[in-house]
Amino acid sequence: MSIDRMQLLIATKNAGKIKELSQFLADLPVNLRSINEFPNVIEAEETGATFAENAALKAQSYALQTGFWALADDSGLEVEALRGAPGIFSARYAGENATDEEKIAKLLRELNSTQDKQRRARFVCAMAISNEKGEIKFLTEGVCSGQIALTTSGINGFGYDPIFIPDGFEQTFGELSGEVKREISHRARAAKKIIRYLRDFYAV
Ligand code: IMP
Repeated sequence: MSIDRMQLLIATKNAGKIKELSQFLADLPVNLRSINEFPNVIEAEETGATFAENAALKAQSYALQTGFWALADDSGLEVEALRGAPGIFSARYAGENATDEEKIAKLLRELNSTQDKQRRARFVCAMAISNEKGEIKFLTEGVCSGQIALTTSGINGFGYDPIFIPDGFEQTFGELSGEVKREISHRARAAKKIIRYLRDFYAV
C-alpha cells in the first residue's frame, strides 16, 4: 500500500459535517485532508435526484480535482407531512445563503400550515468514496428516524438539530450530547459502514 492511498479528502466545506466526520474517522490510520487546503477547487454541482447520487457526484468531483481519494456526505431531513421535503434541498431550503435559524423557521411554518398534524421525520445521510480517478469505490446510507419538535431547543450540533427529536429520546439533537448523536445519527450509521469498508481496504 502506498502512502498516497492512506490520504483521504473529506469532501465538504460544512464545518458541522467536517467535525463529525473527523471524529468518526479519528481511529483509522488515514491522513484526513480538507478541501480548504485546495483554494482552487470548484464546488461540485449537486444535480442528482437522490442523496446517493449527490454524494457520488461530490466525491467524484473533488477526487478528480485534487487527485486524492475523497469521501463525500450528502444528507438532509425528510418530513413526512411535507412529502419528504426539504430532502435533498435541506441546505438551500430557505434560499442559497439562509442561516440555519431561517431554514428551521421556514420548516416549522410549513409544518404548522399543513393539514397533516403528525410530525414524523427522518435524517438521511449518503456517503460515497471515490478513488483519484473518479471511480466510486463504496456508497452507503444511514437513516435516523424521529419527530419534529414544536419549537427550537438546544445549541449543540448544526442545521436542523435543534428541532429533531430522535426516536427513543425526548430531547432534540440540539440538547442531546455529541456522544449520543455520534452513536445514533444518520451520519454515524453511514460512517460505521464506511469505517468497515476502509478497515477492510487498508487491512487494519
Ligand atoms: P448537503 O448535504 O451539503 O447538501 O446539506 C445537508 C443539509 O442537511 C445541511 O446543511 C443541514 O441543513 C442538513 N443536515 C444534514 N445533516 C444534518 C445533521 O446531522 N443535523 C442537522 N442538519 C443536518
